[in-house]
Amino acid sequence: MGFPTIFSCRRSLLKLFLLQFIAFQTVNARPSPIIRFPGDDTPRTDKEVALHYLNKFYGCPQDRCNLMVLKDTLKKMQKFFSLQETGEIDSKTVEIMKKPRCGVPDVANYNFFHRKPKWQNKDVTYRILGYTPDLDEEVINDAFFRAFKVWSDVTPLTFTRIMDGEADIMINFGRNEHGDGYPFDGKDGLLAHAFAPGPGIGGDSHFDDDEQWTLGEGQVVKAKFGNADGEFCKFPFLFMGTEYNSCTPQGRDDGFLWCSTTYNFDEDGKYGFCPHELLFTLGGNAEGAPCKFPFNFQGEKYDGCTTQGRDDGYRWCATTEDYDRDKTYGFCPETAMSTVGGNADGSPCVFPFTFLGDTYESCTTSGRSDGKMWCATTKSYDDDRKWGFCPDQGYSLFLVAAHEFGHALGLEHSQDPGALMAPVYTFTKDFRLSNDDIKGIQELYGVPTDKPLPPTQGPVTPMDICNEPVIFDAVELLGQTNDGLAVDIVDTNTVISTLRAAYPVTIIWKSATSRCICKILKSQLDWLFSLSYNIFHLAVALAGSVHQLK
Ligand SMILES: [Zn+2]
Ligand SMILES: [Zn+2]
Repeated sequence: MGFPTIFSCRRSLLKLFLLQFIAFQTVNARPSPIIRFPGDDTPRTDKEVALHYLNKFYGCPQDRCNLMVLKDTLKKMQKFFSLQETGEIDSKTVEIMKKPRCGVPDVANYNFFHRKPKWQNKDVTYRILGYTPDLDEEVINDAFFRAFKVWSDVTPLTFTRIMDGEADIMINFGRNEHGDGYPFDGKDGLLAHAFAPGPGIGGDSHFDDDEQWTLGEGQVVKAKFGNADGEFCKFPFLFMGTEYNSCTPQGRDDGFLWCSTTYNFDEDGKYGFCPHELLFTLGGNAEGAPCKFPFNFQGEKYDGCTTQGRDDGYRWCATTEDYDRDKTYGFCPETAMSTVGGNADGSPCVFPFTFLGDTYESCTTSGRSDGKMWCATTKSYDDDRKWGFCPDQGYSLFLVAAHEFGHALGLEHSQDPGALMAPVYTFTKDFRLSNDDIKGIQELYGVPTDKPLPPTQGPVTPMDICNEPVIFDAVELLGQTNDGLAVDIVDTNTVISTLRAAYPVTIIWKSATSRCICKILKSQLDWLFSLSYNIFHLAVALAGSVHQLK
C-alpha cells in the first residue's frame, strides 16, 4: 500500500522535469537579443568598465580620464595586480576589473587613507545597526564576531559589541546611496566598504544589501516551526527517495516550503519550514507576527509584501488588515526563491514568465551578455519589466566582514593576491589569515601580549592541500614558458593561500589541456613564483594538481 502512489507521483515529477528541460532547451536554442534591463546600470563596454573602475579605485578624474592620464592610471592599476603594464584596456585587465571587490580605493592618499590612522585604545567597540534579510540574525552576529576574532587573535586588540550609543565601528547594510556619498551599485561589483579609524564615520563598515549574503556556499536557511525549529536546513536532503537541494513544497498542499534538517528525512523525520512572510516577519514592531494579506496602507490594498512608503527598498507588510489603523508591521524574510538586485526589491521569481514573447519555466541568462541567471517577478516581463537575479553561491559575510574590519583598523589594500586585504573577493572554505595581513596589522598594533598565539596561522602546509577540495572555475592555455613547458592558467575561486603550499615541495602536475604530466622542481617554482600574477595562477594550478593526482 502506498507504494504505487509514490511511484506514479515520482514518475510524473520526472516527466515534469523532462518537459521543463525540453522547454528550457528550445528556448535556449534561439539566441535572444541582448537588452538593457531597467535598474541595471552596470557599465558594459570594456571602455566603460575601465573608466568607471579607474575613477573609483585609482582616482582617475571623471571628466579628464583620457589620453596620458588614462594610460598612466591604467599602468598603475596593472602594476597593483602584477599584470603586464601595457597602459591599454586589454582583456586580462578588464577581466580583473569585472571581479567582485571591496569599494575602498587601491591607491593610498585618495579619499580614505591620508595618514596611518589607527585606534588609540586596545578595546575597540562595535555596534550592529541593521541586518540583511538574507541571513538569520544569529548567523550574522556570529559572522561579525568571527570576523573580529580574525584580527584579535593576532594583535593585543579586543572587540566589544555594544547594543546602543556610538561605537567605534558602526556596522550597517545599505543599498545604492546609503548616506555617506559612496553609493553601492546593485548586485556584484562593489560588495562593501569601510572607513579608516577615526571619530564619526571613521571605522564604520557598510555592506551592499543588493548582494546575496551567505557564508559563501549558497543560501543558509534556518528552519522555523516543524519539529526542528531553529536548526539549519541540510542540503541536499533525501525525501521519498529523491534528493532536494533547496526548500520544497513537495509533500504538502498548502504551498509552504519546507526542508529536512538532517540528510535523510525518510529515516529521521526532522523538518522545519523555510522563511516565508506568512510564517513570520523580521524587525518592525510586530514581534515577528506573520503578514496579513490583503492589508490597507494609505488607502490602498496590498496582496503581498511591498516597498511602498520606504526609500531604502526593503520589503515589508502589515501584520493586521489595516496598517493605517493599527500601525503594526514587519519586514519580509527572504524566501527560497527571493531575487537579488534588479528592480523588484527581492520579490520572488514567478514561473512561468514571458520574456520577449517566449515562456520561461526557470531562471535564464537570455537577454544578458554577462551570463548571469535572472527571472521575472511577475507573469510577464514584457508587460511589467520587473526582474531580479536568481540566488547563487552568494558572498561570504564572514570573509567580506573580516576584510572590511581590516580597513576599519587601518589597513589598506594589499598587492598580495593571497592576502585577506587583497581588493578582489575570493571564497575560501577553510580561511586562515596570510602572513602579509598579520605583518600589516602587527605593524600598527603589535603582537598579542597576554593571549597565546593561535595554534594555526600563516600559510597552509602541503599536507593541508591534499585534504582540501580544490575547485577550478576556468582553464585556459597561456603558451610556453622559457623552459618549454606548456603553462595552463587556472583562474580559481579557491583560497589563494593554497598556492603557497605548493612552494616548498617538488610538484608533479598535470596539464589540463595537453593531459601530459610534468614535473617542476622547487628551484623552477621559485623562479616562476617571482614573475607575476599570471604565474601566481599557474601556482594555484600546481597546488590543485597535487590534489588531483593523489
Ligand atoms: Zn577593501
Ligand atoms: Zn557606506
